Amino acid sequence: MLKVEQLTKSFGGFTAVSNVSFEVAEGEILGLIGPNGSGKSTVFNLIAGALKPSAGSVRFRGAEIGSHPAYRVAHAGIARTYQIPRPFRKLSLLENVALAAFYGANERINRQKAFSLASESLQLVNLPTEESARVEGLGAAGLKKLELARALATQPKLLLADESLGGLDHSEMDSAADLLASIRARRGITVVWVEHIMGVLMRVVDRCIVLDHGEVIAQGKPAAVARDPKVIEVYLGTDADAFSY
Ligand code: ADP
Ligand code: MG
Repeated sequence: MLKVEQLTKSFGGFTAVSNVSFEVAEGEILGLIGPNGSGKSTVFNLIAGALKPSAGSVRFRGAEIGSHPAYRVAHAGIARTYQIPRPFRKLSLLENVALAAFYGANERINRQKAFSLASESLQLVNLPTEESARVEGLGAAGLKKLELARALATQPKLLLADESLGGLDHSEMDSAADLLASIRARRGITVVWVEHIMGVLMRVVDRCIVLDHGEVIAQGKPAAVARDPKVIEVYLGTDADAFSY
């Protein structure tokens, strides 16, 4: 479904993503892990069109999308969540999600359809669907769910889910993992999930890729990757708490 080849991104003299190659098969949940600053969100930004690659290619269902702007990537069927949620705080939950639907895979959408997609998406992530439900008071876990609902309302084939920047406790992280698994099971949406905490992700992914300093240092089944000495070293060296949680 997705083929990333030799993807590279430099900011001035600093290379944040260096020759990264991987594939995602339809129906898979792929984990993209690595310590803070290893280039995970930058990879998402490059795929989703928020940043232009310095080199390399991104092919989605056979077509090159590597330098396409974000709206074209969304129309093609790729949705992403942001690590830092920025909802429209004066709009209701339903309006926030309906707005996303207008920018999704279906370019010719009317108001009624947008609101019905919004309602379905909110239900899927277990958020309230009444018109009176507000963003205020959602909390970190709720904002994360809203972010997911906005992505789902675009009717994606591929969902790029970026981690929550802290703020979730262990049981909330476990529910977030279950939610992604259920989105794949119920909607058949392929998922790439970025997380720096390995333990919670390993339970639900089919395969994972490990980044360190912008380079792929390991990939494979979760159990094998967790035993890989390079991966253990990277995690023990920088972020021991993130290894198991
Ligand atoms: P991760 O998501 O794995 O924590 P990021 O992809 O956010 O890491 O960042 C990778 C590296 O690239 C970091 O060193 C970060 O500071 C740097 N970086 C990310 N975006 C930019 C940018 N727009 N300009 C300059 N440096 C950036
Ligand atoms: Mg990040």
